[in-house]
Amino acid sequence: MERSAEQVRENYKRITDRIGEAMAKYRKPEEQVQLMAVTKTVDPALVNVAVECGVRLLGENRVQEYESKKAQYDPRAQVQFIGQLQTNKVKYLIPEISMIQSVDSLHLANEVERIAARADKVQDILLEVNIGGEESKGGIPAEELHGLLEEAARKPHLHVCGLMTIPPKTDVEKYFFRMQKLFIDISAENMDNIDMHVLSMGMSGDYVEAIKYGSTLVRIGSALFGARG
Ligand SMILES: *Cc1c(COP(=O)(O)O)cnc(C)c1O
Repeated sequence: MERSAEQVRENYKRITDRIGEAMAKYRKPEEQVQLMAVTKTVDPALVNVAVECGVRLLGENRVQEYESKKAQYDPRAQVQFIGQLQTNKVKYLIPEISMIQSVDSLHLANEVERIAARADKVQDILLEVNIGGEESKGGIPAEELHGLLEEAARKPHLHVCGLMTIPPKTDVEKYFFRMQKLFIDISAENMDNIDMHVLSMGMSGDYVEAIKYGSTLVRIGSALFGARG
């Protein structure tokens, strides 16, 4: 698929139509899902076409790429970080980044806390869960999530807003179901300083299924901007 403004406008229309259909089919009328445009390898001018269409959330994977593009983004969009994050790069994201979705270890949570404290900011974060237990992927194993939540909840400059995941490619529904269950169970615990309102799951190939299992934020790259080269 070629990358053009016209194509992005068409894709945006198709995606928002499908999201609307999925929400009508699977969810309560008062529920909502946010559409994040994932910007990796995409020219900022084309990212801004998506913002012009109505996208208000951008997702960044790489710190360096974000640094080189951020000044050109339409300021109507908020930017969140969704990629694997090395602790030594956290300082480049705070205070601008509105949410870091990919916190997956105590080591990383400690560094986000330290840098956020220095910036006098309470940083919104999600905890990323490796729900399929895949070696190659980021995220904390589901069995270790509770411990990390308890640690994060004690940190004054972290605000845990929910969970994020990238499921294995096969059997996605099984993994989305497990995430939904984790999310609901943790919400029901009403832990102090843990605010479970974001369940970030669903990408170009599986966002309809993710909506079926309670996603509140879908992260879409290639279906919106075209395939990455
Ligand atoms: C690239 C990426 C996406 C979007 O993937 P597409 O399949 O292109 O929609 C979503 N989430 C994360 C964490 C990504 O790295």
